[in-house]
Amino acid sequence: NHEQIPRSETISLREKHVGKSCKLFFKADPLKIVRAQGQYMYNEMGEELLDCINNVCHVGHCHPHVVKSGQDQMAILNTNNRFLHDNLVLYAERLIKTFPERLSVAFFVNSGSEANDLALRMARAHTKSREVITLEHAYHGHVISLMEISPYKFKNQSQDDACPDQTHIAPVPDVYRGKYRDQDYPGQDLGEVYAEDVKEICEKLAEQGKKPGCFIAESLQSCGGQIIYPNSYLRHVYNHVRAAGGLCIADEVQVGFGRVGTNWWAFQTYGNDVIPDIVTIGKPMGNGHPVAAVVTTEEVAASFAGTGIEYFNTYGGNPVSCSIASAVMDVIEDEKLMEHAEEVGRYLKRGLERLMLKHEIVGDVRGVGMFLGLDLVKDRTTREPFTAAAQHVLTRFREERILLQSDGPYNNVLKFKSPLVFNKSNADRLVNTLDEVLEEIRLMSNFID
Ligand code: PMP
Repeated sequence: NHEQIPRSETISLREKHVGKSCKLFFKADPLKIVRAQGQYMYNEMGEELLDCINNVCHVGHCHPHVVKSGQDQMAILNTNNRFLHDNLVLYAERLIKTFPERLSVAFFVNSGSEANDLALRMARAHTKSREVITLEHAYHGHVISLMEISPYKFKNQSQDDACPDQTHIAPVPDVYRGKYRDQDYPGQDLGEVYAEDVKEICEKLAEQGKKPGCFIAESLQSCGGQIIYPNSYLRHVYNHVRAAGGLCIADEVQVGFGRVGTNWWAFQTYGNDVIPDIVTIGKPMGNGHPVAAVVTTEEVAASFAGTGIEYFNTYGGNPVSCSIASAVMDVIEDEKLMEHAEEVGRYLKRGLERLMLKHEIVGDVRGVGMFLGLDLVKDRTTREPFTAAAQHVLTRFREERILLQSDGPYNNVLKFKSPLVFNKSNADRLVNTLDEVLEEIRLMSNFID
């Protein structure tokens, strides 16, 4: 097998030499994964686990075409992008073709955090404002500039430390559990209602003689618990923010590259007229290889160039990364993975919705394509989160060799975001196993939080 040292030694070396704050799944009994293929991962004992977690390995773990592209290019040349190279420009051209026309300029970096940090710099350069509007529960990256606009991370720190004056937090447009709920506003367009809160932030800034530099949001909120916004939300928000002089950034680091099935980019699901000024992409872009990018308009790129500071990123856009990223797009196209994501995603969602008829604790099933969430509740009317049940499901799923994650501010949302090659038979297995585990929970009359 692919194990170099016994598991116990892996654990003790990690404890000794790796920072304690580094997250580990199933901390009490962590998983050791030694290889992976497609939608499956294998532990040191050779057991196969169905992977519903790794959205990064988008076209399937270790896809042979992606692996070979990287290997081949690594044997020919890898160097920084201060030399001309065809891989960079050909990939840039190919990537840009997937975006609406006005998003025509790309900058290549190595991670989602780098992409978002660069996007903030560009927005500052273009608007001359450092004020950022972000959403409640949002996560945009691990560097200081992004920790400061990621309320998902504030919750464990004192607000004074983490949330600077220039960060303005708007309520997440979550119609199930957010500030304005569908049950309280029947027949109303909650997209418009939620967008008013962003408009108010813009107005308050104006009263202080300021304006927003940017509004940043994922096009579907992942860390916040798989939140699908009301259809009109981003359209209204983008209008308000632009009217106030700010730019709109769409963070597509998790949800991009066809995960939604119908479109390459999740912002496109809200209509052809909803177009951000800056889009950041990462994770699935390299199928596990670190490559990410910022895509923007000529005007924003010109303002950034106008600062007179040259942009250089040692690894960003190197020939190997671009070769791998291009191979990922080959696979998405050749294997029709967007159509697949739409079809299998719809099939899985229907299966999960059927569980709702049977199990009271399933409060909500939501999502598009292969981005789905199942909100577990103690009571369907109050929608009180059932965190312990979600944690129990994850533990039982692991025993059944299915890897699943939970998220959201209450950690009660089961989060589905597998590699896109996940198939209908995998979906049946997931739904049937969940049916059994939810039944177990129902029978444990003393199951309490
Ligand atoms: N944006 C979003 C929405 C993310 O989910 C993440 C990573 N979880 C990032 C940005 C940061 O990406 P990275 O970890 O590659 O820096």
